[in-house]
Amino acid sequence: SSELEAEKYRVLKTAFGFDAFRPGQEPVIDAVLAGNDVLAVMPTGAGKSLCYQAPALVLGGLAVVVSPLIALMDDQVAGLRLDGVQAEAIHSGKSREDNVASWRRVASGEARLLYLAPERLMTARMLAALGRLPVSLVAIDEAHCISQWGHSFRAEYLALGEARAALPKARMIALTATADQSTRDDIVAKLFDGRAETFVAGFDRPNISIAVQDKRDTGEAIERFVAARPDQSGVVYRISRKKVDDTAARLQSAGVKALAYHAGMDAAARAAAQEAFLAERGVVMVATVAFGMGIDKADVRYVVHGDAPGSLEAYYQEIGRAGRDGEPAEALLFYGLEDIRTRRRFIDEQDAAPERKRVESRRLDALVGFCETTACRRQALLAYFGEVSPPCGNCDVCLDPPEVIDATEEARLLLTL
Ligand code: ADP
Ligand code: MG
Ligand code: ZN
Repeated sequence: SSELEAEKYRVLKTAFGFDAFRPGQEPVIDAVLAGNDVLAVMPTGAGKSLCYQAPALVLGGLAVVVSPLIALMDDQVAGLRLDGVQAEAIHSGKSREDNVASWRRVASGEARLLYLAPERLMTARMLAALGRLPVSLVAIDEAHCISQWGHSFRAEYLALGEARAALPKARMIALTATADQSTRDDIVAKLFDGRAETFVAGFDRPNISIAVQDKRDTGEAIERFVAARPDQSGVVYRISRKKVDDTAARLQSAGVKALAYHAGMDAAARAAAQEAFLAERGVVMVATVAFGMGIDKADVRYVVHGDAPGSLEAYYQEIGRAGRDGEPAEALLFYGLEDIRTRRRFIDEQDAAPERKRVESRRLDALVGFCETTACRRQALLAYFGEVSPPCGNCDVCLDPPEVIDATEEARLLLTL
């Protein structure tokens, strides 16, 4: 429903402090919220935790997370608490008193998430106790372990099947980074009776060419880019309402069918602009990030960032609006240090915990790294999301490698002179 939808974005921003979902996260979260059994296969570092943590908060009640390692549980609990989310772990690495205290906070309804090892969940007492609580979600993290345990420890594997019977109202999600098909089939067979909505994240969108350009005379550079692509639909992102209005006006006076879109416009004007963009050919939408959520237009041929985006997550999501039809599309980012300084100031001046500021600052560093890389742009982007890939052949660096002086070659030359 649209209520869950709104709550999902609210949780993303306010509970976790993220400005966008990472590739692959949103469809998984949507499927969980829709009540389906889900298997999510995503690379390490892709952000699997959020795929059950966000639904846990949106759904309310208690989420039980099965995790194989004490260290992983403790990390997750510590991270959630930093975000102000009440989470508990009960495991053999803690004292009995600490475990009892954790359980009290679970039983009283204070805790949103409870992390357990599979062998602890399997005990009849635990299942019975959880059966009396409003468990809304069971998440099996590192689910490939089920497959391995299934072969060597039958009892534990059986316990996870029983967890499902003991908690019939809970949705279930299994997550793993192991892409291998037989392991996947095994998980679905053992956990979901052979039926689950399976998501395998491949993040690459090879039809989108990627380029980064020095930011100079942005207004003129954008006009030149757009004018060279008549009759194509495109999106031009700008950081402020004023820049959106200025850029749209400039394009209009150059004869381009450009429209503005930002949160400062009234709802009717925004709806009209969006409608025209979706319905007409060759409309260029000049917008702040307010534009894009839920926009599904197949033939957007380019996405231009006139200013630096907030993060690589936001960048990926925004360029992903191009080329949904699979035909060639372009992503062009204008990169200037002034933008990065502005972003840094945003981070410094916001009223947030130091830890959160550090995280946001690291994310900005990643964006800078992407803009300044001398290796394949797509490789850098996908690597950030945990995906290993070869040079793409469809980015500015691959197509026009920067000249690097080969010192060894030069030295050899000198020796032969
Ligand atoms: P996985 O379990 O897939 O290996 P994690 O869930 O541990 O990955 O997440 C990896 C990192 O990505 C964490 O630092 C997390 O905070 C970060 N992360 C997850 N989702 C987002 C998002 N939507 N935006 C920014 N960072 C994110
Ligand atoms: Mg993980
Ligand atoms: Zn490349």
